[in-house]
Amino acid sequence: MKIDKIFFNQPSIIDREIDYIRNIKNFSSEGFYSKRCSQWLKRNIKCKEALLVKSCTAALEMAAILINVKPKDEIIMPSFTFTSTANAFVLRGAKPIFVDIDPETQNLDPKAINKVITKKTKAIVVVHYAGVSCDMNLITKIAKRENLYVIEDAAQAILSSYKNKPLGSIGDLGALSFHETKNIHCGEGGALLINNPKFIKRAKIIRDKGTNRDLFNRNIVKKYTWVDYGSSYQLSELNAAFLYGQLRQAKNVIRYRLKIFKLYRKFFENLEKKKFIKIPKIPYYSKPNGHIFYILLKKKKLTNLLNFLNSKKIYATFHYTPLHNSFFGKNFIKKKIQLKNTELVSKNLLRLPLHLGLKKRDVIRCSKEVENFFKKNK
Ligand SMILES: *Cc1c(COP(=O)(O)O)cnc(C)c1O
Repeated sequence: MKIDKIFFNQPSIIDREIDYIRNIKNFSSEGFYSKRCSQWLKRNIKCKEALLVKSCTAALEMAAILINVKPKDEIIMPSFTFTSTANAFVLRGAKPIFVDIDPETQNLDPKAINKVITKKTKAIVVVHYAGVSCDMNLITKIAKRENLYVIEDAAQAILSSYKNKPLGSIGDLGALSFHETKNIHCGEGGALLINNPKFIKRAKIIRDKGTNRDLFNRNIVKKYTWVDYGSSYQLSELNAAFLYGQLRQAKNVIRYRLKIFKLYRKFFENLEKKKFIKIPKIPYYSKPNGHIFYILLKKKKLTNLLNFLNSKKIYATFHYTPLHNSFFGKNFIKKKIQLKNTELVSKNLLRLPLHLGLKKRDVIRCSKEVENFFKKNK
């Protein structure tokens, strides 16, 4: 019998994205669809400004410029994250200070922050892993007391919330990703979310190659010129038209993903009871968006399970190599540090397929095969 492949991710077209692209009248930046997307984000994420950019990486780089990161500044962040979280600040000469995660959520452990704060600390960058919120009250309290900026890497967290506050609306700045691997996508794209209003004016300049073209477009100045740092960060109107279709369906997308998430969870509760695996814990303060369903395996079984699933044409996958142990990340660490939970989780975490192309029977097939593996490998 021929069995279908179940891919880890399968980006899809879900609304009238292609019609919107055909309808574009003005291809230059900040056209009709860019404006619509930006309004949608402001309304649904409740931030003061939402600027469409080419990627979440671009949004994080803009954040680093906006908070005036200087060489030798220290930026606190988890090590269990994507390179961009660190690179954005490293590019401006700052030093990433990696802290450990809470093994229940894989999010930065607020208790670890106090120990690494110095006179050089400038900001805390939180990552809402799998779209599950960090403990934001604790983190913002520390930041207020120490006069630090809070930046939310909300790449995975669109429409998730912390105590009913949308993620990306809590820190001074937030960054979303619309990469094809995320819940809502346009191939590649992102947004810088601004909650601290002092950043709005300058953010528009930085996005537009360091020029005040925005003021020129609005007839406030007669010519535009070079006024600040900047780069080409704005998202193309072509991508924005596609993105607009996706955003219109965003709530449906998340509803469907959460359904899959809950199906997996129900199935795996049994295996957890037998202590073969651990499944994600959602803290009381967090409302997630079904971005990732992962399991944590006991005893280094991850590679074997991955191979087993592969042989069944199920393409599950691991996640981050800790940044503090990575080839480049080591350059920023003087004394060898040990981040116990990060190192453990990086070896033990397996992500299961989760996308809109999955039917209930696919989820059951994935779950059953994991169960079969444990029957054979106790
Ligand atoms: C995907 C991701 C990014 C990068 O997003 P791009 O839009 O591809 O730049 C950054 N941080 C985290 C936590 C991510 O998951």
